[in-house]
Amino acid sequence: MKHSTHTPASLLIRNAHVLTLDDADREWARADVVIEDGRIAALGPDAGRDWPRRLDRVIEAEGLLAMPGLINAHFHSPGNLMKGTLPGYPLEVFMLYEVPPLASGGDAGRLAYVRTMIGALEMLRRGITAVHDDAYHVPVASEASIDAIMRAYEDAGIRATVAIDQPNIVEYEKYPYLADLLPAEEKRAMERAPRQSGEELLALYRHLIERWHGAAGGRLAAAVSCSAPQRVTTDYFAGLSELSKRYDLPFNIHILETKLQRVLGQEKFGKSLVRYVHDLGLLDERMMVIHAIWIDDADIELLARAGCTVAHNPVCNLRLGSGVMPYRALRDAGVPICLGTDEMNTDDSVNLWFVAKTAALLHTLATPEWRDWPQPQELLRALTRGGARALRRADSLGQLAVGCAADLALLDLDSVAFTPLNDLRRQLVHCEDGGSVRYTIVAGRVVYEEGRITTIDERALRAEMRALMSGYREQLERAGREAQRLEPYYREMVLRAAAQDVGMNRWLEAERRS
Ligand SMILES: [Zn+2]
Repeated sequence: MKHSTHTPASLLIRNAHVLTLDDADREWARADVVIEDGRIAALGPDAGRDWPRRLDRVIEAEGLLAMPGLINAHFHSPGNLMKGTLPGYPLEVFMLYEVPPLASGGDAGRLAYVRTMIGALEMLRRGITAVHDDAYHVPVASEASIDAIMRAYEDAGIRATVAIDQPNIVEYEKYPYLADLLPAEEKRAMERAPRQSGEELLALYRHLIERWHGAAGGRLAAAVSCSAPQRVTTDYFAGLSELSKRYDLPFNIHILETKLQRVLGQEKFGKSLVRYVHDLGLLDERMMVIHAIWIDDADIELLARAGCTVAHNPVCNLRLGSGVMPYRALRDAGVPICLGTDEMNTDDSVNLWFVAKTAALLHTLATPEWRDWPQPQELLRALTRGGARALRRADSLGQLAVGCAADLALLDLDSVAFTPLNDLRRQLVHCEDGGSVRYTIVAGRVVYEEGRITTIDERALRAEMRALMSGYREQLERAGREAQRLEPYYREMVLRAAAQDVGMNRWLEAERRS
């Protein structure tokens, strides 16, 4: 533990309605939660009465629900200033604008700090206490750009686990058909575009781990990321896997998000991308497989056997037209699910409550067997313990239990979402939108309280963000012009892949023109 400047206060939450989401799924209509040293020291009816030590603060929580804070299991903070910027695009065209292949300049410094902070504050306001950030750096990562992100999370007061999401191969090699579709000069420009080697990136990982892993009293942590298996060299991929094993770090990996990626696996490796990772010997229980939409039964079995967690991002999937993840098949195979918003330009908010509701609704399209539709209780677990598992913190995060991290959301049960209160779990998934959150507590520290972030001056931060936006918009517009020039080739590639028969369908085919 380095850097532990924030000694958390002790706190008593008195007479709350308590939903633990622990193994026994305990719930009390009236109970206390005692917090000391950032952890839950006791909970239950009258647990705080005659507490032997002095407590710094008491929150009288009559009429409030105390529950574990939500965990945003998949997120890319570098998109934080891009909400509402893009029309509907499929992933491959979207990424042209999001991470332009010919981008120059850099994103280190104050902009990266402010950008990260804006997202962290939006999450804290909604009772999201932890985030798993697969942070990309345009065009290349640096110690400064990593530090800017980590420092923002440190100052915001949220729990954050952060990876460095950098591909290390030439843009057109990540896709099928593209090398043939692109004019020679565009290919040459892509070859010349800034790109970091596996060694350079692993050196940056060493910095991330030494400087930040376990910092802020354990609130900050490192994860690894290969972005996606087709976007990195096998050497670098193996190096990341070794790091993940050595430090027991979560491994972020986007797999089979789109039909095009299913086609790519066949074209480039002669197999599914799940099987490709498995055959490299790298599929393991530290991997959080992101999206997993265009997977087949054999893939599901490989994921289950390896012990992977799957991060489900249904709002992002709908925004990009990626298709519907086979939710129940994954659950039936025993694969744990966590939920993520993905980034601000594919969700246009960081509203994890809305993600859970979308998950509850989306999979009704998959089957008329209503018993297979996602149930509120399993979605609440995905929002909390699923995310904890993906973070390698299954036993100490995502539930209210003695010894667990004191990460809580306190919700007003007198809000519209719970009026009248008929079924707490169902209303948490189907009615709540984050608007009932009154307090957000991370590691025992009250970071959001009655409409106000306590850790920083939010108004000043937003003013600074607006001042930085004009320069940032210019950067986006420049990148947008490049992307527009390349878009026709990407369009051709995406449509060509869409027309292939891959032996499965994850779209509502009847709605599509062939
Ligand atoms: Zn993602």
